[in-house]
Amino acid sequence: MKVAVVGTGYVGLVTGTCLAAEGNDVTCIDIDKQKITILQKGETPIYEPGLASLLKENIKDKRISFTTNLQQGVKSAEVIFLALPTPESEDGSADLSYILGVAKQLGPLIDHYVVVVDKSTVPVGTSKQVRQTIAKAAAKAVNFDVVSNPEFLKEGMAINDFMNPDRVVIGTSSDKAWRVMHRLYKPFMNDESKIIRMSEASAEITKYAANAMLATRISFMNAIANLCELSEADVREVQQGVGSDQRIGSSFLQAGPGYGGSCFPKDVQALLKTSRDLGYDFDILEATQSINQRQKHHMFERVKEYFNNNLEGKTLALWGLAFKANTDDIRESPALDLIKQATSAGIAIQAFDPEAMANVKKLYGNNKLLSFADDEYQVLEGADALMIITEWSEFQSPDFNRIKKSLKKSLIFDSRNLYDLGYMHEQGFDYISIGRPAVGI
Ligand code: NAD
Repeated sequence: MKVAVVGTGYVGLVTGTCLAAEGNDVTCIDIDKQKITILQKGETPIYEPGLASLLKENIKDKRISFTTNLQQGVKSAEVIFLALPTPESEDGSADLSYILGVAKQLGPLIDHYVVVVDKSTVPVGTSKQVRQTIAKAAAKAVNFDVVSNPEFLKEGMAINDFMNPDRVVIGTSSDKAWRVMHRLYKPFMNDESKIIRMSEASAEITKYAANAMLATRISFMNAIANLCELSEADVREVQQGVGSDQRIGSSFLQAGPGYGGSCFPKDVQALLKTSRDLGYDFDILEATQSINQRQKHHMFERVKEYFNNNLEGKTLALWGLAFKANTDDIRESPALDLIKQATSAGIAIQAFDPEAMANVKKLYGNNKLLSFADDEYQVLEGADALMIITEWSEFQSPDFNRIKKSLKKSLIFDSRNLYDLGYMHEQGFDYISIGRPAVGI
């Protein structure tokens, strides 16, 4: 099938590459010239495991190409995916200007039946707006459908998630569009009943409901972690006990530094805004959001407490800047909050992340209290303590003797609960984690 993907970011590039891998003829379009130049050279502008090699293969086999020219990119496409940003607006709603801007440009370009697909996360009612915008911008009556097909991939696992999805949601009232979408996704599904058809509005709400549910699980467990800290419980034990209930399951139950990333914070905010606009008081989601705001400050409060507020001149080594492991994405990362809190209190930060340092340098390169190191041990040299923010696999079993030798004091603040409390005690560390008794103090 001939497919165009407008917006070649995390979602668009993964979508385009995976569709090409199934034999489709894909053109990815982006306004970012630098990104398109990188892609045309066969390189990948983002870090996503498995993407670089799959992309190279499909470029070599001429199944995927890249352009900045929308008209050229959508020419004779049977399906046009919109994988454009929907960032948070000032009032908390999802900013639809990217989507509606492209919809307006598409109007005059459509000259045959085409399915336009909202792949971005968009508020209920958006597919209607996209349809109206395209129709209004077209010179004559044009034949097209707009489908809502939200994306559920997880950064760090995106290729696998797209290739082997739990389910594919297709929101459409058009049988013709449904058949096109079904044909496109069938090669990815062993069980066709997992291609779920529903109305456009239900599909739009489904995406927000899924993200809000996951964010709520995280906040819930962070609240339980705070309760554990006030008692003698260990949240990891509680998590195991609760998560092994089949009705509950164990995913998204890890206590930590608070959720971040490009989706949960903005999607929770946007769903709250939609709810308010529709006159519904979504109080459980308000709590999810406020618990998360507090959690992003939690570990820094523990640092202040440990040092009795004498923070000026201290140095923290930071392991991890990405909002989670296996991505270079730093959007809304708890590490950014920590950097802001610590450096404004006079603490110097030495940071290391296997993939995300370039992105943080772009953002905070001129912060004099922030420096970067080449590896996870170099970053420790001369620091007063180590703080772990991201759960990269290389941090799971480090050389604790090397850590002790490099730090001024054997002190670790761990927002990911990576290490065993008993072992840290044996090793002589002061070890402060989330929702578990502190070791050594
Ligand atoms: P992104 O910022 O990584 O990519 C968006 C791309 O669109 C950028 O490359 C940008 O240059 C391009 N773009 C902007 N305006 C354009 C225009 N007029 N024409 C062509 N290209 C244009 O964003 P993303 O993370 O891929 O997210 C896209 C959407 O998918 C969002 O709605 C997001 O909420 C949703 N989503 C993201 C994820 C994720 O894990 N990142 C998962 C599911 C859903």
